[in-house]
Amino acid sequence: MKADILTIFPGFFQGPLDHGITRRACEMGLAKIEVHDLRQFTHDKHRTVDDRPFGGGEGMVLKPEPLFECLETLQLASRDDRITGRAKQSVTLLSAQGQRFTQQVAAELAGLDRIVLVCGRYEGVDERVADYLADRELSIGDYVLSGGELGAAVIIEAVMRLLPGAVGNEASTRQESFTAHERTEPGAADSTCGSGGLLDYPHYTRPADFRGMPVPEVLLNGDHQEIRRWRRQRALEKTLRNRPDLLDGAQLSDEDAKILARIKRDNG
Ligand code: SAM
Repeated sequence: MKADILTIFPGFFQGPLDHGITRRACEMGLAKIEVHDLRQFTHDKHRTVDDRPFGGGEGMVLKPEPLFECLETLQLASRDDRITGRAKQSVTLLSAQGQRFTQQVAAELAGLDRIVLVCGRYEGVDERVADYLADRELSIGDYVLSGGELGAAVIIEAVMRLLPGAVGNEASTRQESFTAHERTEPGAADSTCGSGGLLDYPHYTRPADFRGMPVPEVLLNGDHQEIRRWRRQRALEKTLRNRPDLLDGAQLSDEDAKILARIKRDNG
């Protein structure tokens, strides 16, 4: 996969993308990330990338010219082909007003050959970028950041770890929080491998007793059926407690429904 980031702060990405799985994916040749400095696509001696908003109002707006000119050098497929899926490419504008970036969107982006991330700044980006250049707007959460750079780094990290081969043990990315089952055969939702859209179950490692805080006994007894049931119950409990909204879209088995009913009964 090729990822391009368009930003007025290219130095921002020295560090966040140089570690862990993202670095590994690049070193293994699974991904290539290129950061483009928007000031290189300006034509005045001050390398101006912003201007005052038409109609008045607060702050400055990121001008369209550097963004359009930079994108044109990338030689992407047309916006139409990207939107219809004829080209496995996407141009994303980072925006607090965008659709929420989720694990499902990360998986969708991981299936593409090329992703381009456009980082806004100031009061935002000239709207013609959203209307004519980008094919989607993504928000990393309901809060306002000063720029799209952190969002771009978040998206790159979430997407890169889903590239086949990027994570040593691929099963680990399938069982994580929010991850739906790829297959729907009977019993899939019972499996330890696959959260089915729930939050992940708790993980423990050595020592078995740390400062008087023991690892749950069930994980030490080697009974894999019992471990599976315990993990599923913990995942259901945590999802109900922290993210009950996820239960609506989760793949729940009859056994899950019974566990949930029991948890709700026990909690009054
Ligand atoms: N005026 C905008 C609004 O109220 O929605 C906020 C602009 S913000 C200060 C500047 C830039 O930061 C945006 O253009 C966008 O690229 C980025 N940004 C801010 N919050 C974001 C979020 N939650 N997700 C993704 N990008 C965000």
